[in-house]
Amino acid sequence: MTIKSRIRTIPHYPHQGIMFRDITTLLKDSVGLRATVQELAHRYKDMKIDKVVGIESRGFIVGTPLAYELGLGFVPIRKRGKLPAETVGRDYQLEYGSDRIEIHVDAIRTGDRVLLVDDLIATGGTAEAAVGLIEDMGGEVVECAFVIDLPDIGGRARLEKLGQKVFALCEFE
Ligand code: 5GP
Repeated sequence: MTIKSRIRTIPHYPHQGIMFRDITTLLKDSVGLRATVQELAHRYKDMKIDKVVGIESRGFIVGTPLAYELGLGFVPIRKRGKLPAETVGRDYQLEYGSDRIEIHVDAIRTGDRVLLVDDLIATGGTAEAAVGLIEDMGGEVVECAFVIDLPDIGGRARLEKLGQKVFALCEFE
């Protein structure tokens, strides 16, 4: 409960009917932040990971200290138009409309064993696009790691159907 009990729920944010799981209360807490990074580092320390890839923006907050702890480099996946050098991108569907994520073309090498990190998986659309980008570049996604899984929304099942492994530190209904 160290982690789950420190996550705050904001009803009707950003839209009516959405229960937003707010990790800022976890991050501001020294015990909570440390437990988050250490639990993930403990899981991945012997999995022969080459790089940690984090998804903008909360995936950066969790992924960077995790990479540091594992003694690895960190690669950002960003929203459209934010990365300065040459990129490859993928479009993905949102509830209303679509969005695009991008990664630098030189960020992943063929055969790299990658750990993908984000704060939360809901529909899995963002993570699926990120896995696609990493695989387009010849990387192998060893596992997709999240602080929070919302299993009722089905993202984990969606990724598992694609053959991906999924791990989350806690779940909310
Ligand atoms: P998905 O693509 O799986 O539907 O949505 C996951 C993405 O939306 C993640 O990048 C995550 O940061 C963001 N997200 C959606 N709902 C929430 C929420 O309740 N709390 C947080 N912290 N992030 C959310």
